[in-house]
Amino acid sequence: MEEPILKVRELSAAYITRRGFVRALNEVELEVAEGERVAIVGESGSGKTTLATIITRLEPPNLRVTGGSVLYKKRDLLRMSEDELRELRRTEISVIFQNPSESLNPLYTVGAQVIEALRARGVKGRGRLWEEAVELLRRVNLPQPERIMASYPHELSGGQKQRVAIAIAMAKNPRLLVADEPTTALDVSVQARILELLARINRETGVTQILITHDIGVAHDFADRIAVMYGGRVVEMGETHEVIENPMHPYTQHLVSSIPRGTDLPPGGAETLDYSLPERGCPYMPRCPYAKPEICGSKAPRLRRVNGRLVSCLLIAARGEMN
Ligand code: ATP
Ligand code: MG
Repeated sequence: MEEPILKVRELSAAYITRRGFVRALNEVELEVAEGERVAIVGESGSGKTTLATIITRLEPPNLRVTGGSVLYKKRDLLRMSEDELRELRRTEISVIFQNPSESLNPLYTVGAQVIEALRARGVKGRGRLWEEAVELLRRVNLPQPERIMASYPHELSGGQKQRVAIAIAMAKNPRLLVADEPTTALDVSVQARILELLARINRETGVTQILITHDIGVAHDFADRIAVMYGGRVVEMGETHEVIENPMHPYTQHLVSSIPRGTDLPPGGAETLDYSLPERGCPYMPRCPYAKPEICGSKAPRLRRVNGRLVSCLLIAARGEMN
């Protein structure tokens, strides 16, 4: 891979709560190439949103990064000043949330908000701002964009609101777009069309996209590469078709086995993990059908390269297939 646009290295983070530290990320590794579509998949509580908030530096006040780096175009986002971060968010990095209402201000018309986003990028002149705003809404397939411009968010459907949120996110012509479960709150029929829209925007503008989802079927349809998270770690990462056709990590195998039924991830994971305890061995050991306590409980697994894939499994490592 050429020099990636984003490189997350050994990223660890914990929430400070009244009950103490809750570890949310453990030495997460992630590389994303320019122009790529990457999906981050994992069940509830696996750390996807935590990772997204750190990549976009929108982490909540009680989250502490305890180690590692997040290199964006070779610069560590964790060491940037507020001013530098603001500049990046203004021009380079956009976020879309699960609930489009979080991205939109209920007090202003859609037009005012799209125009504001364009103005932040430096577009000037009333006429030009209006025209570009209408064009953006047209590009996210909103019918009658002039009418939508004059509407307030509550006058739109969920799918329309998410399209507006995407238009606003694209107004600054970003190089990286992070979308955290952007379709989970929407009807199934709308979901597919929003994902198609994101894919089209990726093809047309070359914007790098990170899609967070708990649905490996969505990841399959959308992404060039998939990163699977479990227990605050990336446990497998590789080309989408390879990961789906030949999952290596036992947790990925479990996820892939749920695809034909078209269901969400099988339940019953997060509860078995107690994040307040120090980590001993592989976090997946309690649920892994192949676990060998003498190997899997001995130390924390690390991501290693196997046949062009990255996998974090002590059993595979013990079989000597890794380098
Ligand atoms: P979901 O699919 O449900 O959105 P997720 O993969 O996005 O899950 P995170 O929200 O990143 O998971 O949560 C990772 C861990 O951090 C979980 O154990 C969660 O309970 C904990 N956590 C998340 N947000 C907070 C918070 N604000 N304060 C304390 N702990 C938190
Ligand atoms: Mg989440």
